[in-house]
Amino acid sequence: MGVTAASRVVLMIGHPVAQTVMPGCFNAWASETGADAVMVPLDVPPEGFMGVMELLRRAPNLAGAVITAPHKQAAARAVDAMSDAARLAGAVNVVARRGSDSLWGDNTDGAGLLAAMTAHGVDPKGLRALILGCGGAGSAIAVALAQAGATLDLTDPQGDRAAALAAALGPQARAIPSPEDVSPYRLIVNASAVGLYGNGLPHDLAGLAPGTLVADVVTSPERTPFLTRAAAQGAPIQTGAEMAAAQLPLVLDLLGFAGIDKYTPFSKQTF
Ligand code: NAD
Repeated sequence: MGVTAASRVVLMIGHPVAQTVMPGCFNAWASETGADAVMVPLDVPPEGFMGVMELLRRAPNLAGAVITAPHKQAAARAVDAMSDAARLAGAVNVVARRGSDSLWGDNTDGAGLLAAMTAHGVDPKGLRALILGCGGAGSAIAVALAQAGATLDLTDPQGDRAAALAAALGPQARAIPSPEDVSPYRLIVNASAVGLYGNGLPHDLAGLAPGTLVADVVTSPERTPFLTRAAAQGAPIQTGAEMAAAQLPLVLDLLGFAGIDKYTPFSKQTF
């Protein structure tokens, strides 16, 4: 139906923002279901972020926002209340208006990765997983995998990020230095930005066990050098775009849009 003066507006906020796939998914859903709603990408440098959150509180036709790097931690400070997933990850990727001017924060990154894994027929329960990167996305993914019963090895070259996350998750997770041998893992997730725009590998995949699912969070290019390497070794792969698309029903639900069950993002990917 296109954008009207009565459209409910959702913001996609990042810096940069042009690499995100959610606006394409959301707007395809709106046009296919006839929902009077639009998602608008907004490139906001860090110093402008809190101002946009304030706008979100004040403008009634803003339903909320999807948040990406580098704002997820700031979003967790900007909301009035948040889900356990967001609190444990210390990062918010969906902000929804609740009532007249209150903001609710949630984190769908982990649930999105899990939903995409399930679509690949992989059950997280009892799975041994290696998570490369413990920032916003990696933390949310680790929380969701731990809650689903996986055992996690966490690694991150930055300070004590992996140790802090492992401590928050309890006995199912441990922080390790970058491992030389990846053969024990049945799931390997690149949760770092390495590979964005086709540059670099986050880890070597020598010794990869047959059948291990290799997943990437990076969405651009859709098939990263890491996934290309994994596929060349015969491994099943999961793209960052699949993870993002799997979050659409969760985002729509959080933002209060109806008709979600009529839309199957996996069969109608438009990005
Ligand atoms: P972030 O900066 O918060 O965290 C990235 C972490 O990766 C950092 O702690 C960094 O030290 C670590 N790292 C860098 N190189 C590493 C390596 N070789 N091995 C292990 N760790 C390494 O960033 P973020 O917000 O977590 O986002 C990361 C990427 O995920 C971005 O490209 C973002 O666009 C993407 N993302 C995709 C989705 C999706 O739905 N597909 C969702 C969220 C984020």
